[in-house]
Amino acid sequence: MKAVILAGGKGTRLSSALPNLPKPMAPVGGVPVLEHQIRLLKTYGIQDIIIITGFEATVIENYFKRGESFGVAIRYYREPQPLGTTGGIKEIASFLKEDFIVLYGDVMVNMDLQRLINFHLNQGSDCTLVLHANDHPFDSDLVEIDETCQIVNFHPKPHALGSYHKNLVNAGIYVISPKVLPYIQQRVAADFGRDLFPRLVHKVKMYGYVTAEYLKDIGTPERLQEVNRDKERGIIDQQHRKNKRPAIFLDRDGIINREVGLLHNINDFELQPDAASAIKKINESGYLTIVVTNQSVVARNLCSKTELETIHNKMETLLGNQRAKLDAIYYCPHHPDAGYPGENAAYKIDCSCR
Ligand SMILES: [Zn+2]
Repeated sequence: MKAVILAGGKGTRLSSALPNLPKPMAPVGGVPVLEHQIRLLKTYGIQDIIIITGFEATVIENYFKRGESFGVAIRYYREPQPLGTTGGIKEIASFLKEDFIVLYGDVMVNMDLQRLINFHLNQGSDCTLVLHANDHPFDSDLVEIDETCQIVNFHPKPHALGSYHKNLVNAGIYVISPKVLPYIQQRVAADFGRDLFPRLVHKVKMYGYVTAEYLKDIGTPERLQEVNRDKERGIIDQQHRKNKRPAIFLDRDGIINREVGLLHNINDFELQPDAASAIKKINESGYLTIVVTNQSVVARNLCSKTELETIHNKMETLLGNQRAKLDAIYYCPHHPDAGYPGENAAYKIDCSCR
């Protein structure tokens, strides 16, 4: 499988920290982000790499050359003018005859790429996006998936005030079939997240691969600092799937939100005053933050599963606004005591989730 790395961005928000340096050359632990990516690709046997360059292209080309010293083969496509994230891919379409992986050059990533590729192949996907919860969903492109992980909707940033979404962010890593290429317009500046994916969602088979492995963009001086701190503390190396992760399990009612008793109306959902700052601390510690909660409101027919999930979207949105994230939410919609009027009998069972 080939890899395409998008490394042409100017990195305006980072330029105060890195004058004249393209974003993918930003150092993490003294090594450019792009080098970390190339070494990760090499680990998974992906040695045929095309880097799309633009701003300060020669800095990248002079550093990596043809890839010999990294054990890979690198080719470059230098964009004469920036055409967003999709434009350059269209120009190199003739080299992309098989499924290929796309990385954004400003993402620090340490994940099991083979597992991602296997998921893509096993699902028969045409376009697989790596998705995760991040600590700034309010200015990220958000994605909705169904229970089979098929992508059903896109919510490009900015998000309407008062809209609630699951914190499932497009992380900027894709596995793409050449079938997708005809949908990209030639010589038109466009973006995967904003322009292409929302149009593609009902035309090809798109899947979301959800992971809690290490994935963070270094697009602002603050984020670059955070990533460097994570590197120093060993968090980047540790948050790979091959390693076991410590986790903190939180109940929901009375812990994250104010206890109101059988909460089923979204308007009654309010965060506890210190919930977001406490969860943010857990996030920063490197522990996974997982919610486990009994929600018999579904079995009692006070609300549907969809309504309950919308309440959880509100929880994730409110936490996200304060830069806190949940890695997963598990709930039990059942209740063992059947025989009450108005109950949802399908959920009145002695289940194994509890
Ligand atoms: Zn259950």
